[in-house]
Amino acid sequence: MHDIWNPWHGCIKKSEGCDNCYMYFLDRMRDQDGSVIYRTKSGFNYPIQKDRKGNYKIKSGEIIRVCMTSDFFLEEADCWRDEAWELMRIRSDVVFYLLTKRPERAAANLPKDWGDGWDNIFFNVTAENQCRADERIPILLELPFKHKGVMCAPFIGKVSIRKYLETGKIEQVLCDGENYDGARPCYYDWVKLLRRECEDNNVRFVFCGTGRRFVKDGKLYKIEGNTLQTQQAYKSGMSFEGRPIHFDLYDSFGYPVAEECLYKPVYRDRCDSCSMRLSCNGCSSCGKCDGKQRGKI
Ligand code: SF4
Ligand code: SF4
Repeated sequence: MHDIWNPWHGCIKKSEGCDNCYMYFLDRMRDQDGSVIYRTKSGFNYPIQKDRKGNYKIKSGEIIRVCMTSDFFLEEADCWRDEAWELMRIRSDVVFYLLTKRPERAAANLPKDWGDGWDNIFFNVTAENQCRADERIPILLELPFKHKGVMCAPFIGKVSIRKYLETGKIEQVLCDGENYDGARPCYYDWVKLLRRECEDNNVRFVFCGTGRRFVKDGKLYKIEGNTLQTQQAYKSGMSFEGRPIHFDLYDSFGYPVAEECLYKPVYRDRCDSCSMRLSCNGCSSCGKCDGKQRGKI
């Protein structure tokens, strides 16, 4: 876990995966209403914020997860999205990880000069069950993005995506069980199936966590806390590295960023037994991977 950029906050529930949305849960804990959508104040321009020395806070080569307390293609955010795209254009030396349950809105909401896509955008759709996989992944495959992935989280139903993986257009698949109140069970058999399909297609697969309710060999396990959930997922050995994912990143003059100038992730001891490591951008000791935010919406 390294960094998150939330240019807006709040969301409208869209599908079954939203039923126990963690953003709604956390807002409720703070006496706030997750359906109230607003542009963040100090956080909106985070990609171009600088430290006291005048350097960008976000380093070249970092992977930044976008809109983890909302949805990037939310209709209510249409008036802010162009500005957000502009910030991602300026930071063409940073990878922005977008995740949406609304890929059907993407084509009409891309920058005018998008062409066949920007190198620094990693576009992902949520596929919490087979129905949503079959609805969203075909759209994902047709969209002009250079990097595409699938997130099966909360993993609440068996998902088979072999035919989509065989297109060669998907670079990464993540899955994660559900957390918080009302968590629905995640079945180990579903994880094994996805892993097998990814391995057969040499696609990176990360079993991020078991969630609070995990069923293995017919037995239901109650696993509390993110740390334990990621450790159990790690112990399963299900994650699979697959073919490398390479992003062409450019500095503000349009020149490729030299390898030695790219951010070098730092991992701590605890990362050695964390299932997230394959998809994690390194540890900033922010405490988020002990707590609530691992980007699983
Ligand atoms: S799970 Fe995601 S898309 Fe659904 S309501 Fe929450 S933030 Fe929005
Ligand atoms: S424990 Fe380490 S590898 Fe796991 S999410 Fe946190 S920083 Fe990433």
